[in-house]
Amino acid sequence: MIPAPFEYEVAESVEHAAELLGSNPDAKLLAGGHSLLPAMRLRIARPELLVDIGRLSDLSYIREDGDRIAIGALTRHHDVQFSDLLKEQCALLPYTAAFVGDPQVRHRGTIGGSVAHGDPASDMPSALLALDAEFVVHGPDGERTVPGSDFFVSVFETALGPQEVLTEIRVPKTGSSGYAYQKFYRRAQDWATVGVAAVRIDGGVNVGLTSMGATPLRAAAVEDALRSGADPAAAAEHAAEGTSPPTDTNGTAEYRQAVAKVLVRRALEELLAC
Ligand code: FAD
Repeated sequence: MIPAPFEYEVAESVEHAAELLGSNPDAKLLAGGHSLLPAMRLRIARPELLVDIGRLSDLSYIREDGDRIAIGALTRHHDVQFSDLLKEQCALLPYTAAFVGDPQVRHRGTIGGSVAHGDPASDMPSALLALDAEFVVHGPDGERTVPGSDFFVSVFETALGPQEVLTEIRVPKTGSSGYAYQKFYRRAQDWATVGVAAVRIDGGVNVGLTSMGATPLRAAAVEDALRSGADPAAAAEHAAEGTSPPTDTNGTAEYRQAVAKVLVRRALEELLAC
């Protein structure tokens, strides 16, 4: 289908983007366009103004920042996947990025767009949640940092205000081992029916779930069981606790909860092996 008519402006800076967003209540940022443009073609999204931030090259970087790694919001999935710095210092992210769509999607889609879109079926948000990532946001009142636990609000809804631009994502240095991402899908390159991110962090293991609720989730009961000394199989039995997965053409809620238990066990075994 053809999108509804819209105006188009190119932002020259983050400040300019925030200003343009303020000029029209129905404005939307355009980054890689790989989620927004399909939604516009289906007329699920009908922004009156598109503010193109895709040319803000200073928002595309991966660098050390003290005890964390800072990733610019416009960094493409491809660049995350092949970053040597991330492979050494936070290997869960490049590993998970390889599961996003296909090479074409990874060359255009951005990590910031994936996060800001707020789709609970996206792969990177659950990995970032498992990593206790922080999100740096720029808006009319300046800059603020939102912890991962507060960022994802509901389906396609995040803590971003209407005039705010996500500029940076900060993740801890977890090293080159002790991570896993398990994705169950019906066809190669599909979205996750269920996904599980696991990472060793601060002496424990954090687990993030994809497609298991209205937002990416932490498998808190699994993490508690591991802290109490449960082995992967026993801990994985808690994978469905606190989840409310959707029922859709990929599977029922009950099916997803059963698959989550299997994937959590596999992810924990994979994490222990690497
Ligand atoms: P856009 O589409 O440009 O924007 C998405 C939303 O985020 C818009 O509302 C936009 O206004 C907002 N936004 C973008 N950047 C910012 C910012 N910096 N600050 C504030 N708001 C912002 N994803 C997966 O996780 N797994 C998959 O398997 C997968 N498969 C795919 C297959 C296909 C065929 C396609 C087309 C996409 C697929 N994707 C998948 C989605 C892909 O990862 C998208 O690129 C990503 O979700 C959105 O990134 P984007 O840069 O394209 O964002």
